[in-house]
Amino acid sequence: MSYLVIFAVVLVLMNTYPVLASQDLLFASKRDSLKSQAAVMASALMELESLSADQVARVMNMLDSMGLKRILVTDPSGLILYDSTVQHPEEETEGPPQYRYALYQEVVAALRGSDVAYSRYANRTFTSTAACPIVYRGMVIGAIYILEVDEVQGSLLLNLQENLRSISLVIAVVTLVMSTLFSKVLTARIAALLRAIRIVGEGEYGHRLQPVGRDEMAQLAGEFNSLTDRLQTTEEVRRRFVSDASHELKTPLASIRLLADSILQTDEMDPAMVRDFVGDIGSEAERLTRITEHLLALTRLDSLPEGERWAVDVSQVTERTIALLQPVADAAGVTVERNLKPDCFILCTEDDLSQICFNLVENAIKYNYDGGKVFASVYRDGDQVLLEVGDTGVGIPEEDLPKVFNRFYRVDKARSRAAGGTGLGLSIVRDTVRRHGGWVTARPRSPEGSLFTAGFPRYLPTEKGAAQ
Ligand code: ADP
Repeated sequence: MSYLVIFAVVLVLMNTYPVLASQDLLFASKRDSLKSQAAVMASALMELESLSADQVARVMNMLDSMGLKRILVTDPSGLILYDSTVQHPEEETEGPPQYRYALYQEVVAALRGSDVAYSRYANRTFTSTAACPIVYRGMVIGAIYILEVDEVQGSLLLNLQENLRSISLVIAVVTLVMSTLFSKVLTARIAALLRAIRIVGEGEYGHRLQPVGRDEMAQLAGEFNSLTDRLQTTEEVRRRFVSDASHELKTPLASIRLLADSILQTDEMDPAMVRDFVGDIGSEAERLTRITEHLLALTRLDSLPEGERWAVDVSQVTERTIALLQPVADAAGVTVERNLKPDCFILCTEDDLSQICFNLVENAIKYNYDGGKVFASVYRDGDQVLLEVGDTGVGIPEEDLPKVFNRFYRVDKARSRAAGGTGLGLSIVRDTVRRHGGWVTARPRSPEGSLFTAGFPRYLPTEKGAAQ
């Protein structure tokens, strides 16, 4: 609408200003030329000293009327001495003399001593008048009045006006049609985008737009689609996580409930059996605690900002973690071998790095055989520090390798559960490693078992002291 209003204003200006300006120009030039014509005639008449009708007629007949419609010459009282529109004054003066006065305002002004000229435009015609005094020795001895009627220039002006009007009309129609068309197309596309936003906002994440063309609206539609893609993926991950988490929590709770009910409902239960059941309830409760702790750890990784990081020696932390897990390894009959190189610093927090080492080494012990081995090594590789944990354990089938880092994913559910696993340990490892700019992979180890490698950007202390 505002676009149309601007156009309307421009068209009105285009229709009025040039016409008015050319009218003014013509008026000015007409006035000037008439004034000078009147002055020329007045100067010819000045020679006569005193004006009489005959003398004036004689002089005037010698002058060129220059296409003027009417020329009047009056004496100082305004009495007409010569009128170019009257062909034979002698014939008219038969009988009693007729005195005619030219009492036009131009004549009155000229008799008072001023040159005047007027122009007006009406009915396709320019009508211009001019008058000037005839002065002899400082005395006004008469006035000359001329009238010009110009239809040629009038019709030229009219043509200009009409041409402008037709051009404006065409422009107005084209503009109106184009604006309506454009705004309809644009508003339809905006409305489609709005509708799509509303639909996705209501939870239908599968809705997509069809981008048409390559303009900004199409780009907007493309951006909207990729945003919705991400939203859909996030939503799916969230849903899966919530359902997996509730399932994981439900299982130990159901066992606890079953065991407690059995104790309550069985009369005179064997005390050894009761102890057994209560022991089971205890271990299920422990599992619940582990799951919630792991869930909390993951939530913390998702939502908490990165804490302050320091240069941490990966070899030292790995050594400490292995020492912590030694009793577990002994109980499982697994030997842990290490090859920890010095000067392997990374920017991290010690808690996070311990968590990574702990989960990897614990898994290598958990999914191992009695008499098996775990190999932990830390070394530098270019500008990276690598932490490798290999084992001679059960190994991971090729097809499961990419999925082991997913939340709640377990290759062998029963074994994981029996070993007290939650299915979250490797997710925590992956999220923590990524948080510190690193990466982690799992692959089979030859001849048996599996090999987990975590890589971190190496920290190069400018001063050795600062790193420690
Ligand atoms: P869990 O608590 O079950 O150990 P993780 O996320 O730590 O969960 O590991 C996911 C799954 O990957 C485990 O259930 C197990 O099947 C497999 N896995 C992890 N580490 C090893 C390993 N060193 N050897 C064989 N399988 C492993």
